[in-house]
Amino acid sequence: MVERPNGIIPSRLAEVRELLRQNEVDALLVSQPENRGYLSGFTGSTGWLLISAERALFAADFRYYEQVELECPDFELVKLPFGGGFTDVLAAMVQQTGVRRLGFEADHATFANVQDWSKAAPDCEWMASKGLVTGLRAVKDASEIAAIRAAVKLGDEALAAALAQARPGMTELELAWLIESTMRTHGAEAAAFEILVSCGPNGARPHARAGETRLVAGEPIVIDMGARLGHYNSDLTRTVCLGQPNNPDKFWTIYNTVLRAQLAAEAALRPGITGKAADAVARDLIGEAGFGDYFGHGLGHGVGLAVHEEPRLSRLNESPLAPGNVVTVEPGIYLPGWGGVRIEDMAVITENGVEILTTAPKEPII
Ligand code: ZN
Ligand code: ZN
Repeated sequence: MVERPNGIIPSRLAEVRELLRQNEVDALLVSQPENRGYLSGFTGSTGWLLISAERALFAADFRYYEQVELECPDFELVKLPFGGGFTDVLAAMVQQTGVRRLGFEADHATFANVQDWSKAAPDCEWMASKGLVTGLRAVKDASEIAAIRAAVKLGDEALAAALAQARPGMTELELAWLIESTMRTHGAEAAAFEILVSCGPNGARPHARAGETRLVAGEPIVIDMGARLGHYNSDLTRTVCLGQPNNPDKFWTIYNTVLRAQLAAEAALRPGITGKAADAVARDLIGEAGFGDYFGHGLGHGVGLAVHEEPRLSRLNESPLAPGNVVTVEPGIYLPGWGGVRIEDMAVITENGVEILTTAPKEPII
């Protein structure tokens, strides 16, 4: 496990406070789980942060009193009463900090949350805030990149070990479990997400869940998996064939088109390129090959404490990439009735260009 460097939480708090100042908000109420962990160091699953210019409060229930004291020395613990809820302490927290304009995470809090909170603290002006902490999380520091690198390595090794045991006749679910159990015996805390294994025509659905379908020799098998290690995630897709492909012309045309698109997009990554432009590199190449209608998702997404986070490599992101962004590059072609090919790597944007973190081989025949 990679240690969090000393002073990182105070420096993240300083960044949030600068953003609060710029947005003319007195404080931010943080309820989104990964944002809460990022800003406080807390690894539990329930709690609320109230961060103002001077104060940093952590509201927790009885289960987490001790954990907050241990993990979050930069925060003052506010104890929820036994059996009580966050709204029982919110008014007192607002009073302690003297805040009036209070930001909440509009992309996480529910409508019911905001109704309850504004009823508990009616004198506050509740301001919808979006993307403030996720924007900070998009740029990883050296310790985060080290953690992600370790998760990627573990995922790569576990996939290789599991594929060495993959055989025709196994079900998709059996292969998914083999991959997951191999990751866990290699030291993963968890699978980063439900592992997808889809054989033959099932692979035409980009996010088909593994089922009882048996693996067939010569059919494309799409495997999408990731490991969680040190609270950070990896994300890896490979498309493989057990033995030579049944329809070699079609398989190699599609496989090589996806691979060329992926390599071209990876080579184009650098600080300053927009998510949209990176997406276009792969999309144009797949379009020129005649498969533009069969690549219906974005090229990639950020990965960190969450499997899907900022920045997106898609038509919708016109912002430039920056050093420290960690993204996936995962073009795919999906043909109904035949199957799919997707190849996914993870990459970190560096000062001068890009480093591909994934080392899993791309030779599909096993
Ligand atoms: Zn994936
Ligand atoms: Zn992905």
